[in-house]
Amino acid sequence: MKNFGSGNVTWKTVLSFLLIAVISVHKSPAQETGKVATFKIGNATVSVLSEGQQNNKPDNLIGTTPEMLKKHVPDGTYPSAVNAFLVQMDGKTILIDAGFGRNLFDNLKSLGTSAEKVDVVLLTHMHGDHIGGMIKDAKVAFPKAELYLPQPEHDYWMGNSERGRQAQDVIAAYKDRLHLFVPSEAGEDAKEIIPGVKGIAAYGHTPGHAGYMFESAGSRVFIWGDLTHAMAVQMPHPEVAITYDVNPEQAVAYRKKLLDYVAKNKIPIAGMHIAFPSIGDIKAKDEGYEFTPFPVQ
Ligand SMILES: [Zn+2]
Repeated sequence: MKNFGSGNVTWKTVLSFLLIAVISVHKSPAQETGKVATFKIGNATVSVLSEGQQNNKPDNLIGTTPEMLKKHVPDGTYPSAVNAFLVQMDGKTILIDAGFGRNLFDNLKSLGTSAEKVDVVLLTHMHGDHIGGMIKDAKVAFPKAELYLPQPEHDYWMGNSERGRQAQDVIAAYKDRLHLFVPSEAGEDAKEIIPGVKGIAAYGHTPGHAGYMFESAGSRVFIWGDLTHAMAVQMPHPEVAITYDVNPEQAVAYRKKLLDYVAKNKIPIAGMHIAFPSIGDIKAKDEGYEFTPFPVQ
């Protein structure tokens, strides 16, 4: 490719070069796809549905220092992922976020269920990597599901027609079974939105971003959506934000508050951007926290 750009290279050559580049990106061994793992929380079954995993550069983190990166990102990248979760409890099949819609439907099948059997979809927020699977072939992907969405998230996306076509299309497609709720602050007084599930405010990443607290037979798990994007850095340093946060300061404040809450109450957590198996325990450590993933059976 020495002559690239000199005029000797035909478009055909350029296109085939680009095609090879695209194929090799998709074949990169760093990308793991299509995995599922299932855990028991009380009488509930909680499954992580992996949409893929890769290593990211820390360039878009806000508030890091060179020392911090040297210590926590020694090879210059940190593991990241995109996940949805499925909770089966009390005879209900509940999907939390819908990923890109990339492996989602095959993953549901591998768990012995399907999009048609999903009773409830809970959305943490409406970025594309969380609502990509909501519409499939121009139709609702979950034909019988009731959709739960935080009211402030709905208002954010509907408040400006330029903001997000994809979010507005999902809201329109599900308008007949859309349930808007105001998330509760974490604590014993938090309100249930459906039996065994509380919607918990985790604002900042987006204005209505929420996590979901599940309780079954006295055991709990907090599926916290995008409370973190870079566990390797944000566990020891919850004060680090990311450029995708609509309000980074508010995101930091809620991250600190909710990490304190789950660590003190020993509540396991699961996250949409935590590397597989994406679920585990949080403990206070030094000035920050430490995450220990559950062992995969
Ligand atoms: Zn996300």
